[in-house]
Amino acid sequence: MTETFANYIDGAWVKSAAVFENRNPANTGELVGCFVKGQAQDVEEAAAAAAAALPGWSTMSGPARGNILYRAADILDKRFEQVAADMTREEGKTLPEAKGEVRRSINILRYFAGEGSRMPGMLVPSERDRVHMFALRKPIGVVGLITPWNFPSAIPAWKLAPALICGNTVVLKPASAAPLSAWRIVEALHEAGIPKGVVNFVAGSGGELGQALVGAKPLKAVSFTGSCEIGNWLHAEASKRRLRIQLEMGGKNPTIVLADADFTSAVENVVNASFFSTGQKCTATSRAIVEDAIYDRFVAAVVERTRRLKVGNGMEPGIEIGPCVDQAQMETVLRYVEIGRKEAGEPLCGGSRLTEGALAKGYFVEPTVFADVLEEHTIAREEIFGPVLAIMRAADFEDAMRIANNIPFGLSSSIQTTSLSRTFEYIYRAEAGLLTVNLPSAGVEYQLPFGGSKDSSFGPKEQGPAALEFYSDYKTVYLKY
Ligand code: NAP
Repeated sequence: MTETFANYIDGAWVKSAAVFENRNPANTGELVGCFVKGQAQDVEEAAAAAAAALPGWSTMSGPARGNILYRAADILDKRFEQVAADMTREEGKTLPEAKGEVRRSINILRYFAGEGSRMPGMLVPSERDRVHMFALRKPIGVVGLITPWNFPSAIPAWKLAPALICGNTVVLKPASAAPLSAWRIVEALHEAGIPKGVVNFVAGSGGELGQALVGAKPLKAVSFTGSCEIGNWLHAEASKRRLRIQLEMGGKNPTIVLADADFTSAVENVVNASFFSTGQKCTATSRAIVEDAIYDRFVAAVVERTRRLKVGNGMEPGIEIGPCVDQAQMETVLRYVEIGRKEAGEPLCGGSRLTEGALAKGYFVEPTVFADVLEEHTIAREEIFGPVLAIMRAADFEDAMRIANNIPFGLSSSIQTTSLSRTFEYIYRAEAGLLTVNLPSAGVEYQLPFGGSKDSSFGPKEQGPAALEFYSDYKTVYLKY
């Protein structure tokens, strides 16, 4: 029997006859579950419950709040295999990738649980005699969290955990394409004994719930990860009410490959960053900018490696690339491939939907490589969010830097080189919030700040110690003794 997953409002699981389906993108015949389709009124009730819970939660000690997060992490850990399998079935990423993500969510909960015992404020010497001055952190209040489908567990975790440990209460709106992974975290928090109203979960259409959330009276802040289009709209709405806002949005991430790079690992890193998780990581490489001296050899090696990638249902062992998350995303990818064909010529590999045998039941697209892509081509400028790589030729390091930075986005960026001085030139001049050197452009950890620059992001960074800046405020005290 298909399970129906309820919304979670004021500590209670709230059912309704109105539901939407969560289907496996690798096999659309498989129904993963049904989710209650929240309405604007549910968001209002959730925000009211969060406001009512705020005085109790915000005055609980940080270590006590941390203990609840530790317990939730332990509960998720016990269900590790099931939660990872749920993710593969709802989002399509491979089971090893899903396991990596669930492990990360558990680590994030534990990391921020520990912050409850630190909650660093400031203590500095005064210029005045016998004056003691310090700044305390305090929560900001009720926070709305809106998350995308591509990291359906880690992104909810990296918003929920710092928000909660700082003493805020929250309303979480997960992506409709993959709500189960976020629901599992909320279930764990519930079982861990989080007081009623502190966490609220309302699934349903972003278009309908977004307006209600950003308009909910008790709301003080919104943290959003998703597309630029929705992020920019939310920013405009939030500004009308002077809500604090944090936006993590799209990218068009470059990997520069210099002639002095370790050739084999550069090929592996570019293929990994472009195609793993089906190219649906916000930090994925979509432009490989390759120095002229090795260009032809590099293109040939990337195409050869890409052709060997195993595409299929991520639950099966040995599969490296899963499906696009849904039909709309697959159609977007195929539309960009057609645009690429017209502008840059036939791709050197891939370029079609895969429909052989069981693949016909899913949204599979061949990993696709275009070469000789120019800066003005659409596939070099717009985010595709799928398994499509544009390879571009650069005359030299300076030309590669210019091409890499000549774009409105600034999320992640990578360089493959053995030159120390070019590495540092790159680090200081690359216009992106996340840089990697001799690694794939994707693959971040939770202990350091995460977020982009330019049009990719707005507001304080997420993760690591920096996450506390968005979810707390300072109260500064001057005390004469
Ligand atoms: P999206 O369409 O913008 O959706 C993101 C979230 O916003 C979903 O929960 C969605 O709900 C909700 N939403 C939709 N319309 C809304 C509205 N009018 N008001 C408020 N919320 C609304 O993005 P996506 O397709 O899920 O994710 C892909 C995008 O996310 C890509 O651009 C990717 O680069 C970006 N991303 C960025 C980062 C980063 O850290 N920079 C990380 C991951 C992903 P529904 O699902 O119900 O529509």
